[in-house]
Order: sequence, then structure tokens, then C-alpha cells
Amino acid sequence: MKRLLLITAAALSIAAACQPAETQTTLQPAEGAQAKNVILFIGDGMGVSTITAARIYEGQSQGIAGEEHSLSFEAFPNVAMVKTYNLDAQVPDSAGTASAMNTGLVTGIGAINIQPDNEAAGCNGERRSGPVRIMDLAEASDMSTGVVSTARLTHATPAAVYAYAESRGFERYKDMPKSALDMGCLDIAEQLVRSDVDIALGGGRRAFEGGKRGSNVSLIDSWTERGDDFVYVASSNELSALNQNAKQRVLGLFSKSHLPFHVDRDASKDPSLTDLTIAAIDHLDARGTGYFLMVEGGRIDHAHHSTNAYRALTDTVEFAASVQAASERTDPNETLILVTADHSHVFTMAGYEARGNPILGLAKDKGGKTVTDADGLPYTTLGYHNGPNQRDDTKLTDNLVQAQNYRQQTSVKMESETHSGEDVVLYGTGPGSERVRGSFHQSKIFDIIVDSLGIRGAKSDE
Ligand SMILES: [Zn+2]
Repeated sequence: MKRLLLITAAALSIAAACQPAETQTTLQPAEGAQAKNVILFIGDGMGVSTITAARIYEGQSQGIAGEEHSLSFEAFPNVAMVKTYNLDAQVPDSAGTASAMNTGLVTGIGAINIQPDNEAAGCNGERRSGPVRIMDLAEASDMSTGVVSTARLTHATPAAVYAYAESRGFERYKDMPKSALDMGCLDIAEQLVRSDVDIALGGGRRAFEGGKRGSNVSLIDSWTERGDDFVYVASSNELSALNQNAKQRVLGLFSKSHLPFHVDRDASKDPSLTDLTIAAIDHLDARGTGYFLMVEGGRIDHAHHSTNAYRALTDTVEFAASVQAASERTDPNETLILVTADHSHVFTMAGYEARGNPILGLAKDKGGKTVTDADGLPYTTLGYHNGPNQRDDTKLTDNLVQAQNYRQQTSVKMESETHSGEDVVLYGTGPGSERVRGSFHQSKIFDIIVDSLGIRGAKSDE
């Protein structure tokens, strides 16, 4: 999947050259409600069809028909439609989209916070030469910051909170081209351990074990060597044993690569997204400074790329549970909670099935009779436009299609299912969430956050 994305980004570099870089403008602080804290939840790849199917799945898991059910964040009072294109791509990737949210600039596909006229940002020690990120403004305002993901912490969505990289592929030095190394660019993992982040919880230990630039000192040691209050945790038990009032800076890496899908985790050792979210909120809240926290349900996207709707839906249900936990642990008068997706997937819900038909099952009519296609073959309600399991003349059964590892059928055969370019939804609740209305590009999420926190222009001119 990563390989495909990199090829795509390279193929589009000619188009990228034709797109002028975006620039940030300094605007006056906006009028309107102010929040003490902001939590930005990103369901990676959680398009509208994913939300609809996951809501039905969760409802059916609770014994109701399902269509009438709602996921936790669907109760939020404010909603907007969000455009997701990248600077040079009609259908975006997670690097360009997360960069838009963190810098307020439409950004090129595959790049982390970097505009095409400034590919060396973050290199040669020029850490501050890239666009200003939400994290920089929060830090300049003496606020705390956190990152949580079920993906590797060096993966595109979390990386955009704290890093600059010409390519999302620069997760570790062994993945970087000589040209980037010659420019003095840091890998994404080293940028994390040098960053101002107060708590970072997720997967991706392997990039940190690899060592810092030009030395064998592991990046985990580099983190803890920054001071007595810099701690490292690697298990659920170590995470829950942390004294949240100690105001430590916490790096938590709970697997070598991504965390397991929610249904595959070993609950005795693998923290859930909800566990990580609660730990981060308690930690940041105890600092008393106000905070910006980004929480990513990173593996909804991965299940979709495999056309495995079961894991996409179960990870979405867990993502909704983490939002619920955040709502319960925060004061609605001081915390703005935003829930969105970075982009959608070519995931569809088709057929005229009867109400309450199992969402993962074969399409059936009101009489319980299986509905068939023009060739007399049954089909599933859920499907994908493209991906690895192309539709053929296999006679599907409910047993087959409802199995956990089943890959829904597709019409265009591809090694990995792709993102889609349709709009996604932004849900908001709390102070400043009245700004969540209308239809806009996702780069405006940056403005909603910095205006709600009142930190626009907080950056000193270093
Ligand atoms: Zn993806």
C-alpha cells in the first residue's frame, strides 16, 4: 500500500510543479467563542458510507435493526461538509490532508506540512522554516499538545502534527533517499523525539529503535535523556501506572508497527484507542495549561485498503467509543471536540435490502429472499469500486461473506483499494463549534482550531 502511494506521488510530481505553493497570512484574532482545549479526532478514511455502515453495525450488535441508531459523534450539534483535495491531487492521501488541517494550507499529496517551494523545511536545522502548525501556535501560547494514533506515530496523520517532510516515506533514516540525507533532513521519528509534544501514544517502535542521525543511540533513549520528566512506556500496564499528576512528557510505543485492529488486539497487553485517548486527556488535563490533542483512528483506512469491511466497521465503532469517552471526560464549556475524516474510500452500500438486514450480509428483500444481480448471482450490501477481490461468478453465501476475514468484492481489480475524492463530514461540539457550518476545504479546520483557542498570531518571529 505504501509503495503504491509513493508511486502515485512520484507520478504526480509534474502536476505538483504546476501548482503554486500556498502561503500563510497573518490575520487578526477572530471574534467568537473561545475554547480552553481542542481535541481533533480523525477517523482515517472514515467517509460517509463508513459512518452509515458502522452505525448500522453498532446498532445491530445491540440487537436493533440498526438504521435508526447513531454513533456517539452524530449527536454533535454542528456539522459541515469538507472538501479533501490536495494541492496537486483530485483524490487525496493522508499526508496532504493532515497537513492541510495542521497548517491551514492546501498541501501536495505525500508531503508532510511542506509546500512545493520549500522542500528543505525541517532540514539543515531549519526546523521553523516550514509553515506554522497548530502545535507551534499552541506551544507559543504555553499550551500542552498531544498525539494519539492506532497507526505508527510516524505515519502520515500523526506526523503532520509535529513534523516536516518532503515525503511521508521519511519515517526512518533507512527509508530516506541520499538527497534528503545530504540536505540534513531528520527522519520523522527523530523529529518526534525532538518536538514539543507533551504526550505521544501509538505504534511504530521500530523507527525509534533504529537510532538517531549519525549515531547508534536509540531515539527512545534520546527522548528519555532530554530530562528526568521525559518517560517512555511500552505496555498497557506501564501506561496505566503513570502518575498523571507528575507533569511528565510521555512517549508511548505499544507495537513495532501499527497497533492491531481493535478486534485482533490482546486486551491484556494492547491498549485500545479508547484507553489511549483517556490516558492522553487525563495527562494533558492535569497539566492545567489548556491543550491541543489529535486522536487518530488510523486503521479504518487500512481495513478499507484490503476491502475488509468487517475490520473497517469494528475500528470505526471503537473510534466512536473513544469520542464518547472524550465527551464524558471533558467539560463541554471549555473543550471543543471536532470529529472528521481525512478522506473517504470507494466503499459503497448498495441494493434495496429490507430494514435490519445484516449489514455485512448478502442483500435480501423484505421476504428474506436473496436479491441477485443480472447474472442471477447474490451480492453483498457492502462493496468497493476497486481493490484486490474482483467480482467473479463465485456463488456467495452468508457464511462466507460474514466471516471476519472476508474481503468484499470490487469491480476494478487493484492490489490495494484506493481512497475516494468525495467530501467528508466535520462534526463539532463545545466552544467554537458554531464555526463548523457550511462547506469548505479541510484546511479551514486549522482556522477553526486556532480561532477557537485564540492562538492565531501567537507565534513569535523566531
Ligand atoms: Zn489510506
